[in-house]
Amino acid sequence: MAIQRFKALEYAQNRPTVAVNFPSDKVSEYYGINTFNDRVMRATLSAEVYKQVSQAIRQGMTISADAADAVAAAMKSWAIGKGVTHYTHWFQPLTGATAEKHDAFFDVDSKGDVIEKFKGSALVQQEPDASSFPSGGLRTTFEARGYTAWDPSSPAFIMENGNSKTLCIPTIFVSYTGEALDYKTPLLRALHILDKAATQVCQMFDREVKQVIATLGPEQEYFLVDKALYYARPDLVLAGRTVFGHEPAKGQQLEDHYFGSIPARVRAFMADFEQECVKLSIPVRTRHNEVAPSQFECAPTFEEVNLAVDHNLLLMDVMRKVASKHHFEVLFHEKPFAGINGSGKHNNWSMGTDTGVNLLGPSTKPKENLQFLTFFINTIKAVHTYSALLRASIASAGNDYRLGANEAPPAIVSVFIGSQLMEVLKELEENASIKVEKGENLYIKLGIDKVPPVLLDNTDRNRTSPFAFTGNKFEFRAAGSSLNCASPMTILNTIVAEQLFKFKEEVDKESESESKKEVAIVNVLRRYVKEAKNVLFEGDNYSEDWVKEAERRGLPNVKSTPLALDALISEEALELFERLGVLNHSEMHGRHEILLEHFIKNYRLNPE
Ligand code: ADP
Ligand code: MG
Repeated sequence: MAIQRFKALEYAQNRPTVAVNFPSDKVSEYYGINTFNDRVMRATLSAEVYKQVSQAIRQGMTISADAADAVAAAMKSWAIGKGVTHYTHWFQPLTGATAEKHDAFFDVDSKGDVIEKFKGSALVQQEPDASSFPSGGLRTTFEARGYTAWDPSSPAFIMENGNSKTLCIPTIFVSYTGEALDYKTPLLRALHILDKAATQVCQMFDREVKQVIATLGPEQEYFLVDKALYYARPDLVLAGRTVFGHEPAKGQQLEDHYFGSIPARVRAFMADFEQECVKLSIPVRTRHNEVAPSQFECAPTFEEVNLAVDHNLLLMDVMRKVASKHHFEVLFHEKPFAGINGSGKHNNWSMGTDTGVNLLGPSTKPKENLQFLTFFINTIKAVHTYSALLRASIASAGNDYRLGANEAPPAIVSVFIGSQLMEVLKELEENASIKVEKGENLYIKLGIDKVPPVLLDNTDRNRTSPFAFTGNKFEFRAAGSSLNCASPMTILNTIVAEQLFKFKEEVDKESESESKKEVAIVNVLRRYVKEAKNVLFEGDNYSEDWVKEAERRGLPNVKSTPLALDALISEEALELFERLGVLNHSEMHGRHEILLEHFIKNYRLNPE
């Protein structure tokens, strides 16, 4: 073992930096060249077909068979023109990884001639032999048919792997009877229901709003290890983490790695995977060293949630492939090394209107700030009511090692909002029986004018909080680095949707006795602040005191995955997800079972 390690060190030290060739000096010249994006569709589809596809993308409308044929034909010529030979339906089964099964474009006809073909029907739906994917008892093997169906809202893309190029078509994956067997189906349903609920609430303020789009910017943390050193450690290879050995004398005590200069080999790797991402329209923007030695982070600009989720999965895939070219292994495990930080995937989340307003962005206008407070407080209320579900949404064997360890938020879900907004909420709560007289400025009287448009502690934020407000978005930090963001995003958007429906109902009721709508809104919000303020915590989430304090407040602290997952099959959760049309009872039970199985198998690989 020691000899192998010395050899590996020698290899690692002598590796030259792999040169990176860019298609052009300007990113704008190759951004998105590997995606069948809006620009390509506009150029290759007839006006009528283009209109149908755009509507399908924006409003989830279905596409006629003729239009699908036209899209398939355009996709095929575009892809073949770029040297693509195969196509695949790309989907997200509950294994946690993405799946693809490649089919060649060429076919042999009855005369033995070879033709290139790709019909609309092959674009829209496929039936992969899916019996080996987990279904959690939703399908028995003899009726193991599963279908993949095109998701037009996420553009098809070309995956390059050495000399081979494949056209990948993002799809959902459902059973013969229509039950969701993947991550994308419930996510799309949740985003749809959030849009419905949030639009209703927006219309209280602005009747022009017709659609609300949830947005996500996932920050991806990871470790890099030289291939030779990686293969010298069977535990890393098999479990994705080290399970024996001693801690190094110099870990992260000096915290001198954070934002430090990036080593040349690593920089080359980053530049290389970033250019591959850019070609796929993944807007990677930020790169830096993280706190632990050999730990790094990459963050894209936020996008619509479904797209951001696909892009994050693709990013991870691209990173693995490019890492190999640079003789690195990239570790997405949540806690590969004891004694130093683990890796997370902060889910920055907000909601925006089709009129261009970020609903979690405070503004200088009091009227908009009442809307801001509405979405802000409703989110806090949803987190308070359904914190067990949020905890379940990020539960995994790997994350169990991370939560509550070095620099990771604990398993207690609390919300950090910063001292200024704490003041605003306090005032709102205390101004109990406000009477607004004629001629008085309603917003000043209600205290809404106190919302600071720029938050002072935006930069000085609490890094220890699992769910933090960071100026114009919430950041769900408890998510682990290997997780499919669809899991927390499905749950978060569903619970916020539920909360917004309730809010609308309560404001309508309150309006019966209160002539001013704004006062009715504030009355309901005030009640929410009272009911949910227990979940607000500004202090150090890593401290022992907080664990005790949280217990006193009655906040759950579920330390292990199997217990956390119970929340998915609580009566309350089953009823909620079925009523909102996100996941029915059997889909929830199926998921619960798969996640448990996943945990058990992983746990065996990851002994304490
Ligand atoms: P930090 O590491 O300080 O938290 P980063 O700049 O690394 O900040 O990441 C912030 C992330 O939040 C980026 O992906 C950014 O695009 C995203 N973000 C910004 N505004 C929004 C928004 N309205 N909705 C969702 N994500 C957002
Ligand atoms: Mg962050």
